[in-house]
Amino acid sequence: MVGQHAEGKLDNGVAKVVCAAKAVGGDIEVVVFATAGAAVAGQAAAIEGVTKALHVDRAENEHPLAAVLAPQVVALAKAGGYTHVLAAGNTFGKDLLPRVAALLDVQQVSDVMAVHSTTSFDRPIYAGNAIVTVEAMAAPCVVATVRLASFQAAGTAGAAAPVEAVSTDAQLPAHTRFVSLAAQKSERPDLQSATRVVSGGRALGSAEKFKEVMEPLADKLGAAIGASRAAVDSGYCASDMQVGQTGKIIAPELYVACGISGAIQHLAGIKDARTIVAINKDPDAPIFEVADFGLVGDLFQLVPEFAQKA
Ligand SMILES: Cc1cc2nc3c(=O)[nH]c(=O)nc-3n(C[C@H](O)[C@H](O)[C@H](O)COP(=O)(O)OP(=O)(O)OC[C@H]3O[C@@H](n4cnc5c(N)ncnc54)[C@H](O)[C@@H]3O)c2cc1C
Repeated sequence: MVGQHAEGKLDNGVAKVVCAAKAVGGDIEVVVFATAGAAVAGQAAAIEGVTKALHVDRAENEHPLAAVLAPQVVALAKAGGYTHVLAAGNTFGKDLLPRVAALLDVQQVSDVMAVHSTTSFDRPIYAGNAIVTVEAMAAPCVVATVRLASFQAAGTAGAAAPVEAVSTDAQLPAHTRFVSLAAQKSERPDLQSATRVVSGGRALGSAEKFKEVMEPLADKLGAAIGASRAAVDSGYCASDMQVGQTGKIIAPELYVACGISGAIQHLAGIKDARTIVAINKDPDAPIFEVADFGLVGDLFQLVPEFAQKA
């Protein structure tokens, strides 16, 4: 499997992909692409179930460009005779693995939710409203992204697995190069792996109100902030905060939806949330059908009260 990392830290999702890989069975090797990847590979080697961590140190790997990584993944997969190539079903894996699958001339299995055998998997269709069991071709290998919300993170191993530097002679494309990265810096937990998420919808009315109302609640709960697509499209917050079918699929312990109606496309992103709290002034809002706790009323009054009492 391919291990995503940034600023010297392995992504939390890797331990969840390891959990999916354990269900598949066999040895689990995690590869990280970096310029000096031994330390990050060491983090992967410490995950329970990982049998070996590999790092490919190459100047071109300084920035994780899918077009540059894909030929290297393919070269390793072919040389190592791997039966499966897995990665997280986040923006990293969704960008990388279709290219890997295309180069290997296999169909990718997207968003694996459950593993039945080495080639049989459950995955969501129709925005998560139905689950389909698919059978993948075993040869030359299975390429699959893993739905992070569906798997627990594997724990830490008692003894770390070996770490090995490997190289590939893969020809890298010249048509794609790194120019710059514009990322939001935030002290808050990462939306996709946070245990608590508070989300705001169209009802917030403006970017200023979104910040003013949602941030104190998020601060109090130590939560990440999410949003509905309507809030994103209205410019209240950044697009990487969108939760739902075309945003992030999340599985927090606690999800607080403020002024969100509960459209199916939004619910597709929170199906695996443990406890859902909804605050909405419309008692018939669909969000209340999935909520464990509901507060009917004006969010501009209820959310600050909630934040104060939390
Ligand atoms: C292909 C496709 C993909 C999509 N993907 C996504 C996605 O990934 N994520 C997503 O979220 N949406 C997605 N959508 C959009 C989705 O259909 C809805 O339009 C969107 O979720 C609505 O956002 P909302 O609930 O914030 O707004 P609305 O539906 O407008 O709901 C606002 C809610 O706020 C309540 N409200 C208003 N004022 C107050 C107040 N003062 N206090 C308390 N409550 C109040 C209202 O009663 C209402 O229920 C997608 C749509 C399509 C077609």
